[in-house]
Amino acid sequence: MSKEYYATNKERIREYQRAHYLKKRVAWLLNNPKPPPMTREEQKRRLAANTARWRAAHPEGVERANALYKVRLENDTGFRARKNALRRRSYELNHDQEIGKGRLYREQDRERLREGYRRYDQENAAKRQAYKDSHKEEQRAYRAAYHRLHPEVARMAWMRRDALKRNAFVEDVSREAIIIRDKRRCGICGRTVAQKDVSFDHIIPLSLGGGHSMKNVRLTHLRCNKSRGAHPKKLAAQLRMV
Ligand SMILES: [Zn+2]
Repeated sequence: MSKEYYATNKERIREYQRAHYLKKRVAWLLNNPKPPPMTREEQKRRLAANTARWRAAHPEGVERANALYKVRLENDTGFRARKNALRRRSYELNHDQEIGKGRLYREQDRERLREGYRRYDQENAAKRQAYKDSHKEEQRAYRAAYHRLHPEVARMAWMRRDALKRNAFVEDVSREAIIIRDKRRCGICGRTVAQKDVSFDHIIPLSLGGGHSMKNVRLTHLRCNKSRGAHPKKLAAQLRMV
């Protein structure tokens, strides 16, 4: 195309180029339809990928941002509250998944975690003892409240203390194991024992030489147990406990 030809036919040539371009563009668009808008999930994924790329490329920036975040979390109570609320909400929304995550973590790292707990216990034994010493009243009140809710636990502890006082044979007695062994039946009346009526007694009373052992402890109803008390003093103590 000579310069003169182009100069004299400029408009016509442009018109042709425009039409040609438009034709090609339309053909391309027909072959390449516009993708549907990104879903929320895709947007999130893309954002996460971008963020990850940026973080990989800017370690010093990540460090700076983390430091700032920590400072803000420590000093800005509103910020902290909002963050916690978000975390709680997310946890509630994905409850089952979160539970599964925790379980998997504990299963995979069981030995390492146990080692950690052991070490923590050893390192903080003194601290724990100090806490116990300085919270005696509180812990006593807590124990009393617990024993009111679970009289069978209190009674078992009382039976054990009584045996120790009498220098009788004493071993660890598992309430659950006894309930299972006795098939939930009362050793005195033979009927089934509901959870709220659970109590225990010594088959051979301590006063007659019985010991505090798995063999000599049986499941009973609370009321059967109370009515059996051979010794007025013992019965009175039992009644105080429950
Ligand atoms: Zn009974």
